[in-house]
Amino acid sequence: MARMTVLKSGDGLIIRGRNTYAVDKTGWTKCDYHIISHAHSDHLPTRIYGRPIASRETALLAAQRGLALQAASEDACEDVELIDSGHILGSRAALIEDRILYTGDLNVRDRLFLKGFTPPKADVLIIEGTYGRADFVFDDFGTIVQRMSEYVLEMLSKGQRIMALGYALGKSQVLTNIFTWFDRLVVSDRVDRFNRVYSSLGVDLRTDYLTCSEAEKSGVLEKNSWLMIEEPRWSIRKKMAQRYGALCMGFSGWTSRGGQYGWRRLDAGFPLSDHSDFKELVEVVEQVDPEETYVFCGFADNFAKHLRSLGYDAYPLGSGRRLITDF
Ligand SMILES: [Zn+2]
Repeated sequence: MARMTVLKSGDGLIIRGRNTYAVDKTGWTKCDYHIISHAHSDHLPTRIYGRPIASRETALLAAQRGLALQAASEDACEDVELIDSGHILGSRAALIEDRILYTGDLNVRDRLFLKGFTPPKADVLIIEGTYGRADFVFDDFGTIVQRMSEYVLEMLSKGQRIMALGYALGKSQVLTNIFTWFDRLVVSDRVDRFNRVYSSLGVDLRTDYLTCSEAEKSGVLEKNSWLMIEEPRWSIRKKMAQRYGALCMGFSGWTSRGGQYGWRRLDAGFPLSDHSDFKELVEVVEQVDPEETYVFCGFADNFAKHLRSLGYDAYPLGSGRRLITDF
């Protein structure tokens, strides 16, 4: 069996086997193919270094971020199989040359219009470790949605204004879908742009809400209670909370464990995550049943260590070259 190598390059990977593959946000390297797992900015390259392999959804969402991916296809290379990774619309894991499974960001849970990741078996697993620490275990999706909906209803009945904070791509479309029943829904202009791409791809999101700029111009924000879907940027939170006396609700796995990474000082936080939690990540590894595992992002060291304690040959994916040996 031919040897393959995995090399960390920038925030992405270079994989060499029968072909060379740039994966996600690599530094400059010419390759045969460039696999792009999804359109989040920490995975999206600024340039394409080979024939692009990505889903149609990722290509359209990437265009919103200024990356032209019209030439991308899921079937550009017979040695690469893309598999829905359940993270955001269009997110894909890649099974490369039937040996290496790169998960990109993943979520195994079915959520509204998103289908959870079902991993295949592979010799080598390269898996995300965003919540790869044992204290990041989340309630099931339905329970979280019920809790957050009850909180919103209670606050709106008291005439409160609410900022619902989530990442503009992915989380905000889930939030738009959950709060679709509320007639005074406002979304930021950036969230609106991504919502419209989702709608064009057949996801049933209403778009008859007011955008922030429309709402500010019309003066409606001063008169009524409302619920606004916005990004978790501190400057926006401060401005809106002060100007309109709005409550700040955060929606991220980081809101558990007392809040981390910019998710502090919220009036309420809910671990509505687009990533799998710790237990689910371990289950993914069990299902893939790899000979070797490499962990990237988040708690990579911690998760690799935990996997070793379970008997897996697992390492954090550092900057060194990794040789995938014959076995
Ligand atoms: Zn992501």
